[in-house]
Amino acid sequence: MSQWSLIYEDFEPAKEKRREALCTLGNGYFATRGAAPEVDANDVHYPGTYLAGGYNRLVSRIAGRDVENEDLVNMPNWLPLTFRRVGDAWFDLQQVEVLAYRQELDLKQGVLLRNLRFKDAQGHVTRLASRCLVHMQQPHLAALETTLTAENWSGRIEIRTALDGRIINDGVARYRGLGNRHLEWLETRLLDAETLLLRVRTSQSHIEVVQAAATRLWANDQPLAGERQTREEPGYIGQLIALDIAEETPLVIEKIVSLHSSKDRATSECGLEAVESIARAGRFRDLLQSHVLAWGHLWGRFDMGLGMRELEPGLTTVLVLRLHIFHLLQTVSLHTMDLDAGVPARGLHGEAYRGHVFWDELFIFPFLSLRLPEITRALLMYRYRRLDEARAAARKAGYDGAMYPWQSGSDGREETQRLHLNPKSGRWISDKSNLQRHVNAAIAYNVWQYFQVTQDMEFLSFYGAVMILEVARFWASMATYNEELERYEILGVMGPDEYHDAYPDSERPGLDNNAYTNVMAVWVLCRALEVLDLLPRERRQELSETLALRQEELERWDDVSRRMRVVFHHDGIISQFEHYERLQEFDWDGYRKKYGDIQRLDRVLDAEDDTPNRYQVSKQADVLMLFYLFSSEELGDIFRRLDYPFEYDTIPKNIDYYLKRTSHGSTLSRVTHSWVLARSDREGSWRLFAEALMSDVEDIQDGTTPEGIHLGAMASTVDMMQRAYTGIEVRGGVLWLNPRLPRTIENLCLHVHYRDKSLTMTISGDLLTVEVAGVTPELIKIGFKNDIHELRHGQTKEFTL
Ligand code: BGC
Repeated sequence: MSQWSLIYEDFEPAKEKRREALCTLGNGYFATRGAAPEVDANDVHYPGTYLAGGYNRLVSRIAGRDVENEDLVNMPNWLPLTFRRVGDAWFDLQQVEVLAYRQELDLKQGVLLRNLRFKDAQGHVTRLASRCLVHMQQPHLAALETTLTAENWSGRIEIRTALDGRIINDGVARYRGLGNRHLEWLETRLLDAETLLLRVRTSQSHIEVVQAAATRLWANDQPLAGERQTREEPGYIGQLIALDIAEETPLVIEKIVSLHSSKDRATSECGLEAVESIARAGRFRDLLQSHVLAWGHLWGRFDMGLGMRELEPGLTTVLVLRLHIFHLLQTVSLHTMDLDAGVPARGLHGEAYRGHVFWDELFIFPFLSLRLPEITRALLMYRYRRLDEARAAARKAGYDGAMYPWQSGSDGREETQRLHLNPKSGRWISDKSNLQRHVNAAIAYNVWQYFQVTQDMEFLSFYGAVMILEVARFWASMATYNEELERYEILGVMGPDEYHDAYPDSERPGLDNNAYTNVMAVWVLCRALEVLDLLPRERRQELSETLALRQEELERWDDVSRRMRVVFHHDGIISQFEHYERLQEFDWDGYRKKYGDIQRLDRVLDAEDDTPNRYQVSKQADVLMLFYLFSSEELGDIFRRLDYPFEYDTIPKNIDYYLKRTSHGSTLSRVTHSWVLARSDREGSWRLFAEALMSDVEDIQDGTTPEGIHLGAMASTVDMMQRAYTGIEVRGGVLWLNPRLPRTIENLCLHVHYRDKSLTMTISGDLLTVEVAGVTPELIKIGFKNDIHELRHGQTKEFTL
C-alpha cells in the first residue's frame, strides 16, 4: 500500500459519491469533485465545482413561507468529456464489461488517475487512461488528459467535450425542496476551432464566472484535427469531434480549462482573462510539471515523518494524515489569500452546510499557523472584514461590541436557518443553533493564537486587537449580574453540544451558564485587557479613541472576568450548564442494543417523539473543550481568578463524567476527546484518534462524506500529531514541548514554523531533538520540563524524555 496514494481497484456505484468527495481536486481558489468526466449528476454521481467564496442567495416559497438561504454555488461543470464508436451509445461504465479498473489519487503530485479496460457488447476492447489536475501554481487552470487505446478494433469514433452551465445545487437530498437554480446563462462562444467559452452569472450576488476549454488531440505526438461540430444551448457549449482511431495507437485527448470570476483580483474583465490564460496555458505535460513542483513545495512545508511500530493493514495512518493535509491545502492555500474567503466546514468538496463557515476554524488554524501562518492571517481577515456586520448584529440583539454569526457566508450576516420544515409532520421546527455565541470566543482565540505563534504585531495592531476588543465588549454586555449570588451570568445560549437548545418543556430558547461559554468569555476579557497593554502606545491611543473605550468599561471587563459564574455539580463536576445534573440519565446500553449506531441521538430520539433536551447526553465535547484549548496551568489560573476550585483531579474526573455521556454526533468530538486523553489514557486516546482519522475515508457518519469532507476533523487529526503528541504549546513567549507519543508510534519528525524560525523536531525513543534554522538573530525560548532554553539559528539541542 503506497503511503502517497488513495487507490480504488473496483467500481462501487453505492460508494461513488463518497469517492468523488475524497478525490476532489482543488487549489484554494476553486475545487472540482473527482467525478468521472463522462457522467452527469444522477443517483450514482455528483460532479461539482465550487469557487471559494462563490455564494448566492435564493428565496424559496415553502408551505406558505418565504425561506431565504445562501449557498456555495455549484459552478458550471468543466469536466465533460466522453466518446463512442460512431453509431454506438456514449461510453457508460455501467453498460460495458469492466475488465480492469483502477482509480488513484496521487497526493504527492496532486493528480487523479484513472485506468480502465473494458469490453462493449460487440467485443471491442478499449483501454482508457486519464490524468486530471487542478493547478496548484496557476489557480485559474485545470487540465484533463485522456488516452484511448483500441485493443482489438479500429474505426471512426466521436468525442464529446463540453462546458456545462445547466447546473443546479442538488448535492444534498434534504435541501431539495428549496431553490437550487443559482446560475443564469450569459454567453457561449467558440473562440477558435478548438476552444469553447461559457459565461454564467449567479442570480443574486451577480458573480460572473467564465470558463474556457481547449480540447486538442494527438496520436504519436502529432496533432490531429478531427472533424468538429459545435453545439450551443442556453448554458451549454459542446463539440463533437469525429476521427478515425487505429488499433493499438493511443489517442491522446487534452482538455485544458481556465476559470475566472468577476471577484478576481488583477483582472480587467473575467472573460478577457479566461481567454488569455487558456491561450498561455500550454500542453498538459507542461502544466503537470509546474503543478507537481508547486505540490512538492507544499509537501516540503506540510508533510510529517511518522514511523509506526507495526505494519498497518489497509489504509495507513500516514496515508490518511496526508490525505487530510492534501484536502486542507486544496481548500485553503496561498491562492485563497487574495479572495476574501473563509474556511467552509465541509471544504470545497460538496454542498453540505451550504459552504458556510462555522467555528471549525478553531480546529484548523493551529496546524496552518505552525506551517504557513500567512494562510491563517488571510483567513482571519475574512472575519475582520465582517466586523461591521457583527457589530450591527450585536446592536440588533441589544448588545454592545461585535456578535459574529454561528454560520457565516458572503457578507457575514447570520446564515443559520431559523426554521426547518419537518417533511414527516409538515410542522416547522425552530433551529436555535444560532445561539452558539461561543463562536465569538473562538474568533478571539484564533487571533490570539496566531499572534502567539507569529508575533505579527502589525496584524494585531490594525486588525486583530479590534476583533478581540469588540468581542470582549459583546461578552461584557451579554453578562448579567445576579445580585443574590454576586456573580455574572450568561443566559439563554447554546454550547457546542447541539443536543441541548432549551430546558425540557421550556418555551424559552437556550440554556443558562454554559460553562464553556462562560469560561471562554472570561478568557476573552482577560486577553482584551492584555492586548491593550501589548499594543504600541500610539496605536493603543488611536484604538481607544476610535472605539471610545472608557476606563469604567475596562473596569467592568475586569470585574466580569473575576466574578463570572461557573456552575458545578456537588461532586466537583463542572456542569455543562446550570441544572444539567437535573436531567435524566440516559439508557445508553438500551439504545445501543435497540439501534446499534446512535451517534446522531437527536435523530433517534426525534423519531420517538422525544428530545435530547431531557437527558444527560452530548453530541460532542462541550465542557471538555476547555481542556482541549487550555493547559491545566492556564485553566488553573482562570479558575483561581474566579475563586473556584480547580483540583489536580478536576480534569480526569470531568473527562470521565462527560465521555460516558457523549455520542460523538459530530466528527469534531472524537478528536477533542482523543486530545484530552492523550496524557492520561494513551490507549483510549489512540482508539478515538483512529476513529476520527477514518471519519471521511470510511464515512463513519454513514452518508455525510458524499456531501463534503469534514475539514475540522481532517485538520485536527493532523494537529493531534503536531501538537497533542508533542505537547507543543505557546505560552508566555515560550514554545513549550512535552512529547508523549502513543505506543503505536515509534518516531515522529515535524518541521514547524515559529516566529520567523523553522524548527525540526524529532522524537524517537526517549530522545527529543530540536534543530533551529532562521534568518533573524533573535533567540527562541524552548520550554522543557520546567526549564527554559534559548536556541539560536543553526543550533541543535537534545532533550531526554
Ligand atoms: C457540529 C458543529 C460544527 C458544524 C460544522 C456540526 O455538526 O456540531 O460544531 O461547527 O457541524 O462542521
